[in-house]
Amino acid sequence: MQGNLGIPDRRASHAVRNDGVWLAYPLQGEADSCNRNGFEPLIWLHPMHILLLGSGGREHALAWKIAASPLLTKLWCAPGNAGIAREAECVVLDIANHAAVIDFCKRERIELVVVGPETPLAAGIVDDLAQAGIKAFGPSRQASQLEGSKGFTKALCTEFGIPTGAYGRFGNAADALAYVRKQGAPIVVKADGLAAGKGVVVAMTMQEAEAAIAMMFDGAFGAAGAEVVIEEYLSGREVSFFALSDGDTAIALASAQDHKRVFDHDHGPNTGGMGAYSPTPFVTAAIHDEIMKKIILPTVAGMKARGTPFRGVLYAGVMLTAEGPKLFEYNVRFGDPECQVLMLRMMSDIVPAMLASCDGQLKNFDLRWFPDSALTVVMAAKGYPGDYRKGTRIGGLDVAGKAEGVEIFHAGTIAKDGEILANGGRVLNVCALGKTVTEAQQRAYAAVDRIQWPEGFCRRDIGWQAVEREKAGG
Ligand code: AMP
Repeated sequence: MQGNLGIPDRRASHAVRNDGVWLAYPLQGEADSCNRNGFEPLIWLHPMHILLLGSGGREHALAWKIAASPLLTKLWCAPGNAGIAREAECVVLDIANHAAVIDFCKRERIELVVVGPETPLAAGIVDDLAQAGIKAFGPSRQASQLEGSKGFTKALCTEFGIPTGAYGRFGNAADALAYVRKQGAPIVVKADGLAAGKGVVVAMTMQEAEAAIAMMFDGAFGAAGAEVVIEEYLSGREVSFFALSDGDTAIALASAQDHKRVFDHDHGPNTGGMGAYSPTPFVTAAIHDEIMKKIILPTVAGMKARGTPFRGVLYAGVMLTAEGPKLFEYNVRFGDPECQVLMLRMMSDIVPAMLASCDGQLKNFDLRWFPDSALTVVMAAKGYPGDYRKGTRIGGLDVAGKAEGVEIFHAGTIAKDGEILANGGRVLNVCALGKTVTEAQQRAYAAVDRIQWPEGFCRRDIGWQAVEREKAGG
């Protein structure tokens, strides 16, 4: 992976460097709330070396945002990609080897590690770094079970009265089959553990449910499928809701909507996500408050009561049902590609927010957002989510990236001999801000059309629900 020691241009506007800053929480609050909290103790934050872990579009967006912080002295990313190399020095480091990560942090005097993906979180990298005296943004191994075990989350919901679908948890196929036969279809079959986003089967028929149970207990997902959660099918509109927690409290980030199916009109197999936009018009102020009150805050309180406080980003998959919002899953980190649109909309500096999450200082914290909409189109290698080619050449990125409101994040690229090559299934995130989702969509697709990559493809309808609503004047 190539390195790049240059300071990004964007940071020039934050060029003032000093030994640190005294900051009062809320850092970015409205004038009146600043006055109200005028007696909050000041907190000393000094510029620091930061290491980001991960290599996808989510991490490029995080790197872009962190690189804009005046609290950064130098950013590294392990392992990174060709786009991230514009923002950070990319380092070859096996992030599954926690001892190697700790050694690197000590050698480079890293003061904050930001963990992008779920796998290192579930493996306890935050605990291991903390034990070595290094601050890390993200949940502990125990708290990561909110994503790492569907059964764990369902049990938490039951214990703390968090609205979710009815469920059963099974360690063998016979009991699981008996349960689905009793419940009937449609029904949802989920591998308990982490299965790279593939461990959920929404079975519309009994046959599909039975096949899913057989597949999971046959070991399709290895240990992740040794236990299976069978959940009530929830019908309604699906939304993603993001909050930041410090273990005691949580503040909402923003809502977003992603598009999981590979082809237009939601056809084809599920993927990691083919695009996203934020905010979603379907999370009204009332629904926002209900999700915070009934789902996010009880989760944070429950995790604290259990002695496993949750610090980091809580990403709730919520179904807006006729009976109100119901949780169907938690992730314990930013979504990809939702992170990309959230970073574009975030006006505040992200570094103090991450530090406040690590330090239990979110109580009086506030984040400010641009009112604009943001949208991202994922460009993937043809064949994805099945087999695809690597190493194909991508042209036109510079021209496409200069269009008004456009930002291109790299999800799976490498630089070779001065060229950018595809190096994964999801390869680019072509993002744009606009006054409306419609404008952001037009800008993003205009940029997509300037990219020369015959071996790539994308959906052409990202944001359609919001665009339809805007057309109807809603
Ligand atoms: P997940 O891997 O948990 O994100 O689930 C993949 C997709 O399955 C989600 O995006 C939902 O569309 C769907 N899903 C998960 N749980 C349910 C449920 N209980 N009812 C209906 N759809 C669900």
